[in-house]
Amino acid sequence: MIRLTRSQLQIRAKDRPLGYLEDILAAASRIDGNEIFLTPEAHQALVDKYRGAVPREPRGFELAQNFAGAMARFVAAGVPVLTAEEYAAREAACRACIHPRDGQPTWEEAAYFGLGKCRACGCSRLKRWMRTERCRLDRWPELP
Ligand code: SF4
Repeated sequence: MIRLTRSQLQIRAKDRPLGYLEDILAAASRIDGNEIFLTPEAHQALVDKYRGAVPREPRGFELAQNFAGAMARFVAAGVPVLTAEEYAAREAACRACIHPRDGQPTWEEAAYFGLGKCRACGCSRLKRWMRTERCRLDRWPELP
């Protein structure tokens, strides 16, 4: 049996399409409080189904949680910001970014009253300045 915890899955579900958690619960052989048990076959079927799945855009409370987490990491690391050149490289990556779900630009320049918005993570351009943050689709260049 493969043992998962509901709390782990709730965190992971933020990077998975809608219905991920419900799928796992439906495939479970046994649910015991916070623990979810799957047969190896059911677990493998879910791994295959969600491999390479495009993450959905966070909404509402998730956005607020993500923002709070990003700020906490940023402050805890001593507020490390990018150089202007590093920022420009991230900006160029965002401008060239095509969303894998619909083939349209991922970056919306006019959203959030001109702060712009990434349709993959829901964040504005302010996130790009934070050395502690990463692109949700791993499309930013590596930092030195
Ligand atoms: S943060 Fe990443 S996913 Fe979002 S627009 Fe920029 S490169 Fe694309």
